[in-house]
Amino acid sequence: MKAMKRVLALVLAGVLCLAFAACDTSAKNERAADQSSVEASNNSETADAAEAKPTNGKLVMATNASFPPYEYYENEKIVGIDAEVAELIAEKLGMELEIKDMEFGSIIGAVQTGSVDMGMAGMTVTEDRLVTVDFSDTYATAVQVIIVKEGSEIISVDDLEGKKIGVQENTTGDIYASDGFGEENIKRYSKGNDAVAALSAGIIDAVIIDNEPAKSYVKANEGLVILESTYADEEYAIAVSKDNTELKENINKALGELKADGTLDSIIKKYIPED
Ligand code: GLN
Repeated sequence: MKAMKRVLALVLAGVLCLAFAACDTSAKNERAADQSSVEASNNSETADAAEAKPTNGKLVMATNASFPPYEYYENEKIVGIDAEVAELIAEKLGMELEIKDMEFGSIIGAVQTGSVDMGMAGMTVTEDRLVTVDFSDTYATAVQVIIVKEGSEIISVDDLEGKKIGVQENTTGDIYASDGFGEENIKRYSKGNDAVAALSAGIIDAVIIDNEPAKSYVKANEGLVILESTYADEEYAIAVSKDNTELKENINKALGELKADGTLDSIIKKYIPED
């Protein structure tokens, strides 16, 4: 139970982090990651601070479209829970939605520099991210799970000690795994799907990722299973610039309406049918 205790301790530390805003190594990790994403986006034409605050009737959303059922491609179009909810928010704001697909680690930087209006990517609210951006009210919950090959000797989180763990770079799964099991055991991939492919190919022993994408990946790839033991309850929200409180308030109002009239629930149910 050693590893389990450590994970619990980490989760507790996360909760304390939330309470005291005095965060530890994971804060450093993430700040470093956010910094590099700012640099990365500064180099790309899509994220130029000079074109800050896109308005002109467009609501520009940054996402990473390989995170089903929240965002993924279907016939070259980005669909999913986030895409549908964002579409309805834009409609309520009298704006036209434009989605920009980028690395998950670049989203916060893009929101911060103002090259996009919001980041919506199954993104967990964390104290570290709140240092650089604001978040809307939450619209969904998630947990981190562990995917392994069928018949694997890994049957609980305890067995992950010393194993090669794949994660999606810059995500909360990445932070938990590196904090809990050591940098040297972590392999980072830019897409969850790539981590899962590496697991199927036997390059890594497990993948730590959010539960709903995990279900989609396991469904799409034979021979994989999700362990029963889960950890880290998380909440998803929309990231907005700290300079744009008006947009945050408008998003919250729209989200509030979508929650109140049952629309949000029905979108979630459409993509996540109850088992
Ligand atoms: N919820 C996780 C995070 O916010 C993963 C999000 C994602 O990969 N799109 O870090």
